[in-house]
Amino acid sequence: MNPKIKRQGEIVEIVKNLKEQGKKVVTYNGSFDILHLGHIKSLEEAKAQGDILAILLNSDNSVQKYKGPNHPVNSEKERAEVLSAIGHVDYVVHFDEINPKEILKKIKPDIHCNGSDWGKNCVERGVVEENGGKIHILKWQQGFSTSGLMSRVAESRQAGQKTNNIHFKPEVKAVFLDRDGTININEPEYIHKIDDFKFVLGAISALKKLSKTDHKIIIATNQSGIARGYYNEKDLKKLHDWMLKELRKNEVRIDKIYYCPHGPNDNCPCRKPKPGMLLKAGEDFGLNLSKSWIVGDDFRDIIAGREANIKTIKIGKKMPVDLKLEPNYHVKNILDAVNIILNNGK
Ligand SMILES: [Mg+2]
Ligand SMILES: [Zn+2]
Repeated sequence: MNPKIKRQGEIVEIVKNLKEQGKKVVTYNGSFDILHLGHIKSLEEAKAQGDILAILLNSDNSVQKYKGPNHPVNSEKERAEVLSAIGHVDYVVHFDEINPKEILKKIKPDIHCNGSDWGKNCVERGVVEENGGKIHILKWQQGFSTSGLMSRVAESRQAGQKTNNIHFKPEVKAVFLDRDGTININEPEYIHKIDDFKFVLGAISALKKLSKTDHKIIIATNQSGIARGYYNEKDLKKLHDWMLKELRKNEVRIDKIYYCPHGPNDNCPCRKPKPGMLLKAGEDFGLNLSKSWIVGDDFRDIIAGREANIKTIKIGKKMPVDLKLEPNYHVKNILDAVNIILNNGK
């Protein structure tokens, strides 16, 4: 038994005791799959924020859900053993969800560290602050990345002998699009008739541009009009068949449409802000969600994206202030959003 690797129940007890002794407990989560110097520097910085550093390690299941089926390279057991041998690390505990909110609720750390890409508005912030903790943003470790390492290995293999039996498959990434208010004008509400459906100005040319990239293009749309009895799934299919035909005429490729037919009180896992449709697409297409994007005009699109580790682009009005969440990017329309994606966020 490795004394640093703990089960969730054990770590909760340990942290409680440590806090009673006046120790400051720091948490930091990640997959820590192929370690590099950037990880070590981040772990050093995380440890320096308090007395005890507990690493919340994404389980194999969790890594697969957000990075696609080619990840992780090392199993959770191996990753935990390697991490536990690092001096800065006091404890390692696995978690199974796509983000660590549930385990953070139980552990209640004094400080939770996060990478600089999400900033202070990270998805964990709410649960950490509710329990009196603080978020610490770690310095960006330039020049170190696992994907950079993997492509260096792949390149040197290709340059070398042909007995290369390691396959580095290209990552599959997606752009998720909301429908109403993003692709078509959301007026009248609960659109279900072809005559009422008007594309947003510039949407078709934006989607045409996007169709030339290697992103899967996936529509994820809440259609509670079905639960409310305004139309049925047959009406929706008819509208979507027409929409796809119009788009195809304009050289737009849509790889799949996911819709949620439920209402706000049905408590289904698919209605945005829940990430169900995005996670299902992740499984269906083997996506690396952390390299994917979501574009939408509603705060629910942004929350759903964040819950699934997807980069978010909000169209139109600002996020409701009380949510204390910001999208990664904020734009006027779908064309601006597509330009950001084409420039890979720059
Ligand atoms: Mg919308
Ligand atoms: Zn649903």
